[in-house]
Amino acid sequence: MRRVHNFCAGPAALPEAVLKRAQEEMLDWADVGASVLEVSHRSKPFIAVVDRAERSLRRLMSISSDYAILFIQGGASMQFSAVPLNLSLQGEAIDQLVTGQWSKKALHEGRRFGSVNVVATSEENNFTSVPPVGAWQLNSNASYFHYCPNETIGGLECSFVPQVDVPLVADMSSTILSRPLDISQFGAVYAGAQKNIGPAGLCIVIVRRDLLGRARPCTPAMLNWQLTDEHGSMYNTPPSFAIYLAGLVFEWLESRGGLSAMEVVNRRKAAKLYATIDQSPFYFNQVECSSRSLMNVPFSLADSGLDSLFLEQAEENHLCNLRGHRSTGGMRASLYNAVEERSVDALCDFMRDFEKRYS
Ligand SMILES: *Cc1c(COP(=O)(O)O)cnc(C)c1O
Repeated sequence: MRRVHNFCAGPAALPEAVLKRAQEEMLDWADVGASVLEVSHRSKPFIAVVDRAERSLRRLMSISSDYAILFIQGGASMQFSAVPLNLSLQGEAIDQLVTGQWSKKALHEGRRFGSVNVVATSEENNFTSVPPVGAWQLNSNASYFHYCPNETIGGLECSFVPQVDVPLVADMSSTILSRPLDISQFGAVYAGAQKNIGPAGLCIVIVRRDLLGRARPCTPAMLNWQLTDEHGSMYNTPPSFAIYLAGLVFEWLESRGGLSAMEVVNRRKAAKLYATIDQSPFYFNQVECSSRSLMNVPFSLADSGLDSLFLEQAEENHLCNLRGHRSTGGMRASLYNAVEERSVDALCDFMRDFEKRYS
């Protein structure tokens, strides 16, 4: 068996220990003589899986009972519609900060449901920095403020939590669980699972309970957070395997020392890669240093004519999925929790060696 160094942006690497455990208990899970894929979501052992996953996530992120945790299908993109349906108040605008392609998608979706106030955008500098707070046009009557703390495609991170007077809503798809977070600063956060949580097809929503109940009457049942909460995330058949696997990932994170321990490793991994990029003009990353993402590191070669050779030789060295997003070109290495530090070391070694041979 050969497992490569996997830098995929999503669906992304999963901890090997988690995959092994799922493999071991695949055929006869929880002593039921069937796999977790084959049992009723209403059965006792499966309800226990959901409860366990929720409790583990609460411990990891210190989430109090003031917040509901919802397991929802449809990915983060579906929440681009669910957020305004559940939280926007009749006649009030929505504040949205635009720092890259994901927050822009959320903006387009938000506009279907009401008037959106673009607080600020860094599109004019190609999303290479977070607009300075002093220039933000906040609306104190806004239903909520939406932003994307980590732009997965641009590799841009908002290194601070915006201080606003309205409920703060964050698309945390590619940064959740990468470090501790003070959830009490947020009205709601959501994250597609396939970056740093588990399999694709699952999205996690963490929402302050006092914000439930604002959904518009026209909100489809499947998008209604309150209904989802009332049904214990089982209004319909949930993505049961994805929830099971996410639960295993949460427990793996706890066994590794939780999110503070992950942060230490994640900072070290990112620092090593940025140092390799910055050490010479052969590689470059355009994002303003203070806003560089810990999780997604896009980089280019000064001579883009070498791109395909770089990717080809990287693959030969088992360094996989480094091609940049189709909209940006170049390269991108995603360094989620399950990407081991030794994989980053191998990438940096390869990059230095490649540079020596082709500069
Ligand atoms: C991947 C991603 C999405 C889209 O997730 P889907 O699950 O494919 O809908 C949205 N926002 C961010 C920040 C992402 O990284």
